[in-house]
Amino acid sequence: MYNVVFVDDREDQFIILNQVKREAKDTLDFFEFVPEASIIDTQKAISKKAPDLLLLDYRLDEKPVRDDKIAEYKAGPVAQQFRDSAIEDYKNDFPIFAVSHEENIRLYDPDKTAHDLFDQIWFKNFFVDHPNDAVNQMISFIEAYKEIIDCFNTENILHKLLQINAEEVGFIDSHFFKDINKLKAPNLVSINIFKTFINRSWLLLDKDNLLARLGIHPDDKESTHFNELTRIITENDIEYSGIFGSGFQRWWANRLKGFFEGRYSVALGDLTSAERVEKISECTGLKFQPALSRWTNNSDTYVSFACSSCKNPTEVEYSVSAYDPVPHPVIGKNRICWSCIQTGEYGDRGFLVDDSDEFTADKIRHGKIVFG
Ligand SMILES: [Zn+2]
Repeated sequence: MYNVVFVDDREDQFIILNQVKREAKDTLDFFEFVPEASIIDTQKAISKKAPDLLLLDYRLDEKPVRDDKIAEYKAGPVAQQFRDSAIEDYKNDFPIFAVSHEENIRLYDPDKTAHDLFDQIWFKNFFVDHPNDAVNQMISFIEAYKEIIDCFNTENILHKLLQINAEEVGFIDSHFFKDINKLKAPNLVSINIFKTFINRSWLLLDKDNLLARLGIHPDDKESTHFNELTRIITENDIEYSGIFGSGFQRWWANRLKGFFEGRYSVALGDLTSAERVEKISECTGLKFQPALSRWTNNSDTYVSFACSSCKNPTEVEYSVSAYDPVPHPVIGKNRICWSCIQTGEYGDRGFLVDDSDEFTADKIRHGKIVFG
């Protein structure tokens, strides 16, 4: 059993974990408490429970906690203290999530702080709406930390943690491997790997990007034929099995490409989505609707990724680069489809357009580029 500690100044919030507890009854033990007025006392209370994962309400300072006293600090300083001690003793490191209602979490912008303190920032609704995913993802973080700690300070930790083959090593900048080995605490390794590989689709594809690569319509995402196709893919060692893989299903982009080229002599990228699903059907007997471009509403098109904003299959030519600073040039950047620019919805989802594509985006916003 792993220990999960949840600290919130409002006791009525502990209810959000009810469903999660039922899902996780044999794997996770939960300890919930309100913070102490003094930050040191809160840190001591947390340490006493030997957490494998810590959930911190982002605003700990909203409601009196003891004797009408308010905890005059937010989640950040609490997390910082644990992060500092992990540098002294890396074996004591564990994942820390900030949890909040949406309106509060917007105040926290990790890009504006010196470094990221939290592994994840979750809305409280996630525990209630997706308890099963919440449990799997929490366990995957706990186990990721244990794996990182096991190989910390050894050579080539990225090879071990991602379980990459020689071809994939070639896609990653050699400096990146060295930089990962230089990081001073497991949490820095975890946050770096999560942001670089799990949370962005370039080497590893999430389900939306897998559909786009295959030219399959998102409506088929849960179909029995798509489940069968993912089963075939898994059997052929395309599914990612490195750290975080148990909570975040991903597929290797290069192995997917190699599988279709090697087994069926099909280069999927050279085909339109209508042609791709036809080929896949010829090869496997499975039937799919072709992906449509959101911009042209047409399947006679070369979609290659899922828009970062709306997740629809998208073509490079009908998308712009998102403002997306990445630590190494080799890492694939996020892109936004033209339809999201036209409707403005990308802004509500927290995306910005990169300066290099602002000229195009502005034309779309002002109706100077329209379909047809
Ligand atoms: Zn979009």
